Amino acid sequence: DAPHRHPVRKPWHEAAPSSLAPAPTTQETPRPASSPRPPRCGVPDPPDGQSARNRQKRFVLSGGRWEKTDLTYRILRFPWQLVREQVRQTVAEALQVWSEVTPLTFTEVHEGHADIMIDFTRYWHGDNLPFDGPGGILAHAFFPKTHREGDVHFDYDETWTIGNNQGTDLLQVAAHEFGHVLGLQHTPAAKALMSPFYTFRYPLSLSPDDRRGIQHLYGRPRPAPTSRPPAMGPQAGVDTNEIAPLEPEAPPDACEITFDAVSTIRGELFFFKAGFVWRLRGGRLQPGYPALASRHWQGLPSPVDAAFEDAQGHIWFFQGAQYWVYNGEKPVLGPAPLSELGLLGSPIQAALAWGPEKNKIYFFGGGDYWRFHLSTRRVDSPVPRRATDWRGVPSEIDAAFRDADGYAYFLRGRLYWKFDPVKVKALEGFPRLVGPDFFGCTEPANTFR
Ligand SMILES: [Zn+2]
Ligand SMILES: [Zn+2]
Repeated sequence: DAPHRHPVRKPWHEAAPSSLAPAPTTQETPRPASSPRPPRCGVPDPPDGQSARNRQKRFVLSGGRWEKTDLTYRILRFPWQLVREQVRQTVAEALQVWSEVTPLTFTEVHEGHADIMIDFTRYWHGDNLPFDGPGGILAHAFFPKTHREGDVHFDYDETWTIGNNQGTDLLQVAAHEFGHVLGLQHTPAAKALMSPFYTFRYPLSLSPDDRRGIQHLYGRPRPAPTSRPPAMGPQAGVDTNEIAPLEPEAPPDACEITFDAVSTIRGELFFFKAGFVWRLRGGRLQPGYPALASRHWQGLPSPVDAAFEDAQGHIWFFQGAQYWVYNGEKPVLGPAPLSELGLLGSPIQAALAWGPEKNKIYFFGGGDYWRFHLSTRRVDSPVPRRATDWRGVPSEIDAAFRDADGYAYFLRGRLYWKFDPVKVKALEGFPRLVGPDFFGCTEPANTFR
């Protein structure tokens, strides 16, 4: 039976600012221009670039997860329309859709600190994400590994209901917000619980995309302990509160993909794609690679947009509006907002540490580039320059790095350009294909340049 649709739902482009990711376009019911904003979650969407580049339209991770599976939660204040016991039951049901498909457990506590702190609040409430009265923003929540991890706020001014479309269904909204608290961002996948727009659907269920997302973070449910023979010695993995390692997915084929980022790190070349890393030393792929990038850099978001190593040996990673810094493999900073670096809301597509001292740092994005100064940790101006200054190189690039001889390389799609630091232009004979030159892939016969 077809899911019910909330009667007031509006295409995002009629009212929403352009920075919002487009909602699925197939399910919209237009409404009069005078009606208020479409009801939605207040958690900012991942940047456009990220979802547009993600052709498979799949779940998006926030970059953090809980490092334990048994979590507590506490409800601080309740909505006035509902009986407290109903709210408790609904919150438990909303958590259950996530615990059913993972090893996660949730236990309510009534005092003190809990991992997940649930509150119903109004307008400004202390986190710089004010609510807006009835309609519009319904709720928001904070990702794991951020400074307010575990906080879930519902807009007290909504007409909260349960199991019907006479108001805003608390079950739907709560289940969505708990997805954020567990580490999922908004997804571009249609009909997913993690879509940013509110739709009343009954019964509540995860889409395949939601389920893959949460299982990517926490794995599948543990087998019931009773179904196992008694183990001698410690029981590995069963009845513990420790998290299982991420289920590795198969890495993509280096000959078939376009890379997210490339950087020279400690004299070796690292190619990044969708949570995986390829490591080349002296032009040779090292044994054991591709490997999960999180093996080297714990907490690294996936995918990364750009990466570079600075002259002090710190490795910088960028994703969306945030950046991370590692000292070798040790996390030093992040996620931190790009605005700290003087960048105003432009995601970075590539970063290049150049010059003999690797102290000339350039960020590229959207056909523009910025010069970045390590001493001040700021770009010299938030107003970018046009990337056409880099003669012979396309203005939109995916990745950039410097080799041991001082040449810069720029990647776009499956092609790359080698850039002469003396003549300050791309070398003759480029672009060439990344796959054959770096990974020994067979060059397709019908290649044209
Ligand atoms: Zn949301
Ligand atoms: Zn809040």
